[in-house]
Amino acid sequence: MQLLNNCLKNNHLSNLSNFINALFKQNCLLCASQLHSSLANNHALCEACLKDLPWHPKTSCPQCGLASDGNICGSCISSPPDFDATYSVFLYAYPVDAMMQRYKYGSMLNLGHTFGQLLNEKTKLGSVDLIIPMPMHPARIKERGFNQAHEITKVLTKNHTEKLDFKSKLDHKSVIRQKLTPPQASLPLKERVKNIKGAFAVNGDLTGKRIAIVDDVMTTGASLNELAKMLKKAGATHVECWVIARALPHK
Ligand SMILES: [Zn+2]
Ligand SMILES: [Zn+2]
Repeated sequence: MQLLNNCLKNNHLSNLSNFINALFKQNCLLCASQLHSSLANNHALCEACLKDLPWHPKTSCPQCGLASDGNICGSCISSPPDFDATYSVFLYAYPVDAMMQRYKYGSMLNLGHTFGQLLNEKTKLGSVDLIIPMPMHPARIKERGFNQAHEITKVLTKNHTEKLDFKSKLDHKSVIRQKLTPPQASLPLKERVKNIKGAFAVNGDLTGKRIAIVDDVMTTGASLNELAKMLKKAGATHVECWVIARALPHK
């Protein structure tokens, strides 16, 4: 963990030569140790770094992903969200939070491959009809240069173990982000539901579809819930949240 702390602190991975190294020689993205060939092209993380990461516990509420004894939590029973299940790879804690910032703001873009691969291992692509990356407003895509959820979804549907073609399930056309809203992370938790209301427009008929929404971080779940609500209005029967990291909101 010390090595990993140093590398995140020093930000040496944004250095071009390390990036090229990691890309071609398949060194661990976090500690730069050389990977065994069996791990190359897979997560691009060594076993020691993988083991140290804050994995999302199995004893979580299957619907919202928050802490529980493995059964549906009290809050999902008393006020059920519009989505039916949540699958998360990690908890949003150090060093995943630092990795996510590096990925989203462009200094470690190859982490998108790692995240997509790990999400692939966590989810069953065959269990849904469509996989929709959380849409970003065109102005935000222009600002950032890419939609992080879309990039993760591309890897998720391409690298698979079941040898089936899931690329056709990737759907980035059925939903658009029609309202340019302030970033959810910039707002107090209570204002996020209001901020995201009416942000999405669904095109077309999703009758009977089972859908997974892919997002990077799930905090209050307000964006995922609003999108799930819209998808169900358009006919979807089942909506799951597939996320890289689940934050445990502060009350
Ligand atoms: Zn490592
Ligand atoms: Zn719950």
